[in-house]
Amino acid sequence: MCIEILRHKKKVLLLLLLTVAGSIIFYLYTLRLERDNASATSTSTTSRLEREISDLQALFESKVVPQLGDLGRPARRNWTAGERQAMAQSMRGVGFNSWLSQRISSERSLYDMRHRSCKKLEYSLEKLPSVSVVITYHDEEASVLLRTLSSLRNRTPILLLREIILVDDGSTNVDPKLSDFLQIKFLNMVKHHRLDTQVGLMKARVTGAQLALADVLVFLDSHVEVTQGWLEPLIAPILQNNRTCTTPIIDTIDYDNFAYRRGKPSRGFFNWEFNYIQLPLLKEEAVALPAPHKNPIMNGGLFAIGRQWFFDLGGYDKGLKIWGAEQFELSLKIWLCGGSILEVPCSRVGHLYRDPNFHIHYTHQNKESEKKVISRNYRRVAEVWLDDYKDKLFEKMPHLTVIQVGSLTEEKALKKRLHCKPFKWFLDQLGKDFLNLYPVVEPVDFAFGVLQSLASPKLCLDRSEGKPGQPKLSECPDDHTFPESELKWTLTNHRELRSGPVCLEKRNQQGDIYVFQCHGQMGNQFWSLNTTSQQVVHGQMGSSRRCLEIQPDAKGVTTRKCDSNNAKQRWKFGYKNNHRLQHFWDNVKTS
Ligand code: UDP
Ligand code: MN
Repeated sequence: MCIEILRHKKKVLLLLLLTVAGSIIFYLYTLRLERDNASATSTSTTSRLEREISDLQALFESKVVPQLGDLGRPARRNWTAGERQAMAQSMRGVGFNSWLSQRISSERSLYDMRHRSCKKLEYSLEKLPSVSVVITYHDEEASVLLRTLSSLRNRTPILLLREIILVDDGSTNVDPKLSDFLQIKFLNMVKHHRLDTQVGLMKARVTGAQLALADVLVFLDSHVEVTQGWLEPLIAPILQNNRTCTTPIIDTIDYDNFAYRRGKPSRGFFNWEFNYIQLPLLKEEAVALPAPHKNPIMNGGLFAIGRQWFFDLGGYDKGLKIWGAEQFELSLKIWLCGGSILEVPCSRVGHLYRDPNFHIHYTHQNKESEKKVISRNYRRVAEVWLDDYKDKLFEKMPHLTVIQVGSLTEEKALKKRLHCKPFKWFLDQLGKDFLNLYPVVEPVDFAFGVLQSLASPKLCLDRSEGKPGQPKLSECPDDHTFPESELKWTLTNHRELRSGPVCLEKRNQQGDIYVFQCHGQMGNQFWSLNTTSQQVVHGQMGSSRRCLEIQPDAKGVTTRKCDSNNAKQRWKFGYKNNHRLQHFWDNVKTS
């Protein structure tokens, strides 16, 4: 019996052993199968993802020409005729060379043009507040937007950049792939928020600000490039006083070749037609450069402000629509209600200005005309913040008095609640030099009427365009003092040659003359009258003066080196105020 069992036991054991070994082999085999399967699927997902990423990259970045526009240099190559044509066409569409923009890397380098003492400033990053950058855009060109975002990522200390809130304000050219690309390129740094209908930049910015998590907000346009060290000096003053708002120096990105050009420190203001203007620094401010100085009115698109202070001020007036006057409203509110604005010369941000002859229409989806929208914005700001000085504005822009302004209850209540000061305080504190240039009671003009050529006495200067953007010559009218509007010119108190809304300006070295909206800033629109030689002279500084000269064959005018023997440089005004002309050069710098 025992032997029987033993014999059987051997068999059983052998069987058992075989089963166990078989199971192990089977187990190992299935394990391998699973692993192989798993790795096969994971390589397919990775490669799909990689393909998608490279597809997106190809879509947005494949046209980039290495080194083009690096260091912020003008982006130049030997372009073919076809390429130049493509550039010109893109320029006509958006007012800047978007064809070229697509060929300049979004990661391009920029020359560090800060004042040398700015480079030495040291900040302890732990002590500075982090910021939420808020950018809103409506139909922005993708390559321009990408360059804005890349420059932010590349030149902002990561510790200070909490997030970039990117608000798409109802763009009509939406490319869903752009959102995907932003996600892979900027990961969590960019928070993309889409508004399905356009609400205008004021409301879109407030929406962005409401989403912000950081204590300091930095608002930027969607077509900028920030430079080395831009953020630290911009936010340091806010740490010292949470009611201080700061603005960087705004450099220029050329609309034609994307060159990055130095902007000058200045004090922003507006004139009595609500045009944004730039005044020179006060003497003591110029001496103290690059220390921050007071900036009466911000340019609009680029500024840093404490989130709490921004919302204490009610953000932007909710009645302001689409675009226009919001920088006047916020600036006046900041100053009059207990805060201040400083321009910080050590902080530089480049802004892409469009071709001045291109006009962008933001209100095309809107039922109201653009003029109506902007006029209402103007009137709202004037009614709430300018007190009696609003009449000065209405005198220049009488159409504002008939526009429906909507309810101002909320704004007036805010003004009362925050004990905001009157506009006169603002003028007294910040606008002494402004009042000299733009007096409330304006002195009479130096001369007006026709501008008749003495070389060809039948011909008078006509502001209507001959060649694009340039004035022409027309037959002189009978009445030289009060001619029809196209032939009426005024040598104004601003030392400009104005006809209606436009002024005569010299744009280039060749001395070509154009008509353009008056900017009241002298510069390329500065003109004087030499009563002895009867010359009409362009240029404020003695060394750069040139004289207006008739080109009877071309039926136009140009400027050339002044020559009192040249009859083609002699002109006659319909009326001259000789007494006023004796004082023409009072308080005007000539060298
Ligand atoms: N913008 C917007 N919604 C609008 C109009 C403008 O978000 O309805 C954006 C625009 O894309 C830009 C910023 O607001 O990023 C400022 O506008 P723009 O650059 O035209 O003003 P400018 O620099 O000419 O004063
Ligand atoms: Mn802009």
